[in-house]
Amino acid sequence: MKLVRPQAIILAASAFTLIQQPPLPAQDQTESLHWYRGNTHTHSLWSDGNDFPEMITAWYKDQGYDFMALSDHNVLAEGERWMSLDAVAKRQRALGRGAMQKYLERWGDEWVETRKTEAGAEEVRLKTLAEYRGKLEKPGEFLILQAEEISNSAGGKPIHINAINLETVIPAIKSDDAGDLRQVMGDVVTEVRKQEQQTGRPILAHLNHPNFQWAITAEDLAHVAEMRFFEVYNGHPGVNHLGDAERPGDERIWDIANTIRIAELDRAPLLGVATDDSHTYHGGDVSPGRGWVMVQAPALEPNALVEAMQAGNFYASSGVSLQSIDWDAKSRTLSLAIVPEEGATYSTAFIGTRSGYDATRPEGENGIGEVFAELEGTEVRFTLPEDALYLRATITSSARHGNPSFPEQKKQAWTQPVGWRAE
Ligand SMILES: [Zn+2]
Ligand SMILES: [Zn+2]
Repeated sequence: MKLVRPQAIILAASAFTLIQQPPLPAQDQTESLHWYRGNTHTHSLWSDGNDFPEMITAWYKDQGYDFMALSDHNVLAEGERWMSLDAVAKRQRALGRGAMQKYLERWGDEWVETRKTEAGAEEVRLKTLAEYRGKLEKPGEFLILQAEEISNSAGGKPIHINAINLETVIPAIKSDDAGDLRQVMGDVVTEVRKQEQQTGRPILAHLNHPNFQWAITAEDLAHVAEMRFFEVYNGHPGVNHLGDAERPGDERIWDIANTIRIAELDRAPLLGVATDDSHTYHGGDVSPGRGWVMVQAPALEPNALVEAMQAGNFYASSGVSLQSIDWDAKSRTLSLAIVPEEGATYSTAFIGTRSGYDATRPEGENGIGEVFAELEGTEVRFTLPEDALYLRATITSSARHGNPSFPEQKKQAWTQPVGWRAE
């Protein structure tokens, strides 16, 4: 998605929430940057997803995504891999028409490769990324990033870490001891960093769905220095996104972890991504199109995208789009311009933690992740309180999510923490 600038229209059409504010700063410095929409967490038949990689990738392309990454468990789409048609059919059992039939319809006999084994079983060969990318990628328009969901564990607790833009598979680390959880998290990121140095290409590592099987706490995320990214939203309905009566949801985990990192450990905060983690493509429950990142980068190229994310130039979304995010370090003011959707209204929560926070308070005034202000409108700005450790924003639309992963889900966007270091 190219950066469009209907700014004059937006300014004219929207009402400023606060009166007497100066106009938003000029955006000359971002003139050569574009916003790119992408999903970094997707499964295919290469692991436990129920469709062919080129079918899934084509879906994202058709939906107007700029980039996507198939991130199968502990495997890259490479080498020779045959699957029995029975196995393909089994993975998409809820379906009236077979995945195979749809595959043949879209890609044709020439492309689809089948064989019969000596025992008489019919098999289909999964295409490698090297084979199918040329059929879908288009320079400047659509890009596929190579990725893996490194599916580690400690004492049976899942520690799933996505590595985006890697070159060779990174083996999962499995420990029998739950006490090794933080060690495993750190070691996997160290392996990612090693490959980054060896290959010279930047690789993004993000910790997935911390609340899946309630495996990873905010404290774990805080104490693993190597980890810099995590999923603040994952579209899989089984990942306990909202937490429960005793345990915090993903968004609150972010504030707890970042408060500990900044206040106690003198460490940079975690940055948040939103992803699909889609597995089912034939009407199932774990479907695509729920969460994504918007990356502001100079070009639609793998290294440029990963470097932009590593620099924090992106936001997470489940449906709300932002025209601009401006952090003025001098005045410590965060200004957001939201791309309005017809009929929708927007509420932006400016959230952070004060230096004298009371850790015993679950939330609210002077607690962790205090909502400093909640502003309505499509142009909002807020100045960081002097005693705040950081500031971030969650924008919530009045419009319902078109494909919700939890009841009553509204479209949202999450911006990255700012104001956490002396600038
Ligand atoms: Zn996972
Ligand atoms: Zn996954």
